[in-house]
Amino acid sequence: MPRGGNTNARGYGAPHVAARAAMKRAVDAGTAQCSICGGPISPHEPWDADHTDDRTGYRGPAHRSCNRRTGAIKGNRARGQASAQVKRWRL
Ligand SMILES: [Zn+2]
Repeated sequence: MPRGGNTNARGYGAPHVAARAAMKRAVDAGTAQCSICGGPISPHEPWDADHTDDRTGYRGPAHRSCNRRTGAIKGNRARGQASAQVKRWRL
């Protein structure tokens, strides 16, 4: 098996991988903001990549605990704040 694999050929697009890597860098640097609650994400906290509803991109990194809750509170999030992040992380 080739070292690292070829994600492009496996149907999981490189843009997604790049976006996740960018989010990880922000989280690791301690500069990431949760796309759901707007709070800072600590490098030591578990986080998820929060998808846009149409799955064409990511809203950005989100606390795992926030992301797991969004099913219930969808539509309640602060749209104005989220839209800035959609632009930032759009693929
Ligand atoms: Zn959060």
